[in-house]
Amino acid sequence: MEFRKVYLDHSATTPVAADVLDAMIPYFSEKMGNPNSLHSWGRDAKRAIDEARGSLAELIGASASDIVFTGCGSAADNLAIKGALWAAKKRGKHIITTAVEHHAVIDSFKWLGKNGYDVTILPVDGECMVSPDSLRAAIRDDTALVSVMFANNEVGTINPIAELGEICRERGALFHTDAVQAAGHVKIDVSKLPVDMLTMSAHKMYGPKGIGALYVRKGLKLVPLVHGGGQEFGVRSGTENVPAIVGFGAAARLAERLDKEGEESRISRIRDKLLDGIMERVPDSFVTGHRTKRLPYHASVCVRRIEGEGMLLRLDYAGIGASSGSACTSCSLDPSHVLLAMGLDHATAHGSLRLTLGKDTTEEDIDYVLESFPPIVKTLRELSPYKA
Ligand code: PLP
Repeated sequence: MEFRKVYLDHSATTPVAADVLDAMIPYFSEKMGNPNSLHSWGRDAKRAIDEARGSLAELIGASASDIVFTGCGSAADNLAIKGALWAAKKRGKHIITTAVEHHAVIDSFKWLGKNGYDVTILPVDGECMVSPDSLRAAIRDDTALVSVMFANNEVGTINPIAELGEICRERGALFHTDAVQAAGHVKIDVSKLPVDMLTMSAHKMYGPKGIGALYVRKGLKLVPLVHGGGQEFGVRSGTENVPAIVGFGAAARLAERLDKEGEESRISRIRDKLLDGIMERVPDSFVTGHRTKRLPYHASVCVRRIEGEGMLLRLDYAGIGASSGSACTSCSLDPSHVLLAMGLDHATAHGSLRLTLGKDTTEEDIDYVLESFPPIVKTLRELSPYKA
């Protein structure tokens, strides 16, 4: 078997696509104007931002004026949750989220819990799904805001967002969803979905790092977390990161193109080949997350009697980039909060592996992983203190 490099960590970050980079480059140098300046350089930069805002809005069925650019996905989550609550103090002090959110959401809720809010954390089932019944049981007359992620970053499960949003709407609570892993990969149409705010991040969809966006339903007021020059409709001050915003717009247009070309079915087909192949060839392993209601590019498994770090290092040695748990926690030895919330015990959770595919992943790449991975597991099991 010939050595090859196979990057399967697209949930952590994606490469900037060639078209995206080409679109960005002029805005670092010859088109470097500050979009807040009145001269032609400034107006060019402002026009480029408007165009990007329009592209991103089109991707999710919104109007351009509903999109606020932020410093990253985490900043958009913080702005949605804290900004909306601050602006709606009369709504009540009860807020709801789930046990499996990204830390940008969970830690915002923890902070709010220490600052006067009553926080309810919804559980998930064994496939990481949030049940509408659990939200129905938890929501109260004084619930101000609910935040449930569109799709989970560690196991790829897609939540019933329409149903959850409908419950919030009926009960008069604001509904935010973190769609960082889903946007640009699955169809999202906020004109039909009952969501008030939705978070996106460019670097998960072939755009640059360090630029996020928040969709904000028309009429919803947010208090800014960053005060200053009043950019982004007064919600996020600071001179705009023009090249990154332009890149985000180009990434949104690329996502639409990939969708038209049938990328979702191509990638989910090779993802299923990978999952089925691992299940066939690696004894005592199982798929984590929902088998069908999952992100098309997302594969995640647990391999019993093995710990994830060993797998990652040996896979890396074989040229394969993967992760166990989320990008930000993968350097920690604590088992993932997501897997524990799904009911896995610590030892099993330590054997988790996430393989996330991208637009450039080929069937040959998958074949290479399926050849390389089983012998790695076999060797590690021979060395492992856990016996069958
Ligand atoms: N939300 C989810 C579900 C994520 O997976 C991530 C990044 O991994 C974020 C938020 C944070 O996005 P960013 O890296 O742009 O801050």
